[in-house]
Amino acid sequence: MPEGDTLELIARRLQPLVGGVPHIETPLARHAPLRLAEQLAGQTLTAIEARGKHLLIRFDSGLIIHTHLRMSGRWDIGAPGRPTRRSRTTAWLILKDDDLEAILVNGAVLELLTPAQLSLHPSLRLLGPDVLAPDFDATAAAARARRGAPEQTVADVLLDQRVLAGVGNVWKSEILFDCQLDPRTPAAALDDAELSALLQRASELMQAHVASGATQRPVRIYGRGGRDCPVCGTDIRARAQGDEGRRTFWCPTCQPSRAAASPKNA
Ligand SMILES: [Zn+2]
Repeated sequence: MPEGDTLELIARRLQPLVGGVPHIETPLARHAPLRLAEQLAGQTLTAIEARGKHLLIRFDSGLIIHTHLRMSGRWDIGAPGRPTRRSRTTAWLILKDDDLEAILVNGAVLELLTPAQLSLHPSLRLLGPDVLAPDFDATAAAARARRGAPEQTVADVLLDQRVLAGVGNVWKSEILFDCQLDPRTPAAALDDAELSALLQRASELMQAHVASGATQRPVRIYGRGGRDCPVCGTDIRARAQGDEGRRTFWCPTCQPSRAAASPKNA
């Protein structure tokens, strides 16, 4: 599932395209109205950056390609002309030079923005601090979390891209397991220092994963409902949580409930 670490690794793999004038295609008829290839013809690609789960590809005219993978999209990156699982004719976007070809499959979001449109963009404008930024500010993110709904759980806070950008459903369970927090704990049960520490730990874990260069996430609990907790052996629990009913996994022994014990919930 694409989360901030996935996008950061994709941005790094695409860096060889920076400084060149890539060949651009949008093979699907539904994307023809974007006129992406025509509008970007002859332009130098100046930067590729991940911002949370968004990818921004910048050109010297100022125009920016914005993509978001959501659940279904993925980037296929490799040598030009290599065999691919899916036909290039069904790609959302192809960027290539002599050495590298990047194919966006099932993109979910593909649009071309001006700098003004980027600064006013409804989802990008509201993003909180990027969890993978070297100067990630956990205190600022915690302050943003306090502006959320009072019934928000710590799991809701981690997924709220307006609080911090880049955490998705897999990392949510892993971060809460690492911090020994029950996912149902109300954010209000944590004091400011505890909330900052949680968000700081989220950044540390995800940055360590990206720095490791590993392609697989170091998953200890996600997707392992009913199996033994790797720390204590208790059955790992799973349940749907939040508006979109995404699965949350936790160990009831290692992650005891905080709600009842907190003086703030008395
Ligand atoms: Zn356990």
